[in-house]
Amino acid sequence: PVPVVAIVGRPNVGKSTLVNRILRRREAVVEDVPGVTRDRVSYDAEWAGRRFTVVDTGGWSIDATGIHLRVAEQAEVAVDLADVVVFVVDAKVGATDDDEAVVKLLRRAGKPVILVANKADDERTETDALTLWNLGLGEPYAVSALHGRGSGDFLDRLLEVL
Ligand code: GDP
Ligand code: MG
Repeated sequence: PVPVVAIVGRPNVGKSTLVNRILRRREAVVEDVPGVTRDRVSYDAEWAGRRFTVVDTGGWSIDATGIHLRVAEQAEVAVDLADVVVFVVDAKVGATDDDEAVVKLLRRAGKPVILVANKADDERTETDALTLWNLGLGEPYAVSALHGRGSGDFLDRLLEVL
């Protein structure tokens, strides 16, 4: 069976952009407006000859209601079905209360988690991302999904965990 990787995190942190970076093609929908990806969407991916399924999600917010609650529920389903979870945080913003709450839920899920500090477009943001060690999820992988910076190291790590 092909392993499944779920991409989760708050809306607008760059999950779909990261999915496209992993796929090396623009397939997942990226939007400047938060909350565009609503359902779980699965894609066939491959890195260094290893195949896996990557699942984009609509974003996980804790106090969600209405449509946002449905989106959050889909993210939880994605985590339940995943072998590995990639938790994406916005390195320009740092960890928010919502991020910390998601970390608790991820701990409970008991799946291996890789922490991606996305939007680390430059060295300074990459350095800022070191504070995300505080989340207790191990090494934060500083990545710019938009420009590709750091994505190779992240994908190599993903293969180690798969
Ligand atoms: P999602 O809601 O988490 O799926 O986020 P999207 O992938 O749709 O991206 C939201 C916004 O963040 C878009 O305007 C992206 O272009 C932007 N974005 C995503 N990744 C990066 C990045 O690495 N650097 C910068 N500067 N912007 C990014
Ligand atoms: Mg998205």
